[in-house]
Amino acid sequence: MFVMFEGLTPEEVKAIEAELAKLPPQQQDSARQRLASMRPEELKAMFKKVGPVCVFCKIAAKEIPARMIYEDADVLAFLDINPANIGHILVTPKRHTEFFTDLRDEEAKKIIVAMKNLANTVVKVVGAEGFNILQSNGKIAGQEVPHVHFHIIPRFSGDGHSFAWSHKKFSDEEFAKIQAEIVKNLTSGKKSAPKAKKKRELEKIKPRIPKY
Ligand code: 5GP
Ligand code: ZN
Repeated sequence: MFVMFEGLTPEEVKAIEAELAKLPPQQQDSARQRLASMRPEELKAMFKKVGPVCVFCKIAAKEIPARMIYEDADVLAFLDINPANIGHILVTPKRHTEFFTDLRDEEAKKIIVAMKNLANTVVKVVGAEGFNILQSNGKIAGQEVPHVHFHIIPRFSGDGHSFAWSHKKFSDEEFAKIQAEIVKNLTSGKKSAPKAKKKRELEKIKPRIPKY
């Protein structure tokens, strides 16, 4: 059922929806209607009582501590509480949003630029030989905290981690079909797919060896 919550921020609406989702399904519609008939001030008061429900929102709101590394108006970086290696950093938008694809373009740009600086710095500080940037979307992909975040994981020889995956086989036809389907959907959306000629040129570019 679609119900408007007037005068609330998207974060407040999301927090209320998260609370509604905890009710038995048969009670959710009537509870949602009851809430929607309340004045925004009442709902805001209720939101305050509920508070941010997500652990990274709580860190952003300074409600729970974290070992902060970087902060600007939109981006936060702090040490992972269960690091894969020394210097393991999490980089998140301050705004609650679940998936990478939910990020506003400006947020995405700021996060990527901040990550360049963070990765460069942490690699030097801990004397790593390389690093991984890992970002998971959805439980199936291993996302535990449903607030978009990037892991910067410094790597050392013999650290015992592996992000290797098994390889699946597809026929040329299957490759061609999926390529065409993705490109078709990209161009119909934002015209951001490279043109065929440009794509051929891009394919010729050799990967660069990173310098730390
Ligand atoms: P995910 O599996 O969702 O990609 O990663 C979530 C990460 O968040 C995990 O590596 C976990 O150790 C970290 N994490 C979970 N709760 C907290 C917390 O309260 N503080 C900090 N600093 N990291 C956390
Ligand atoms: Zn959050």
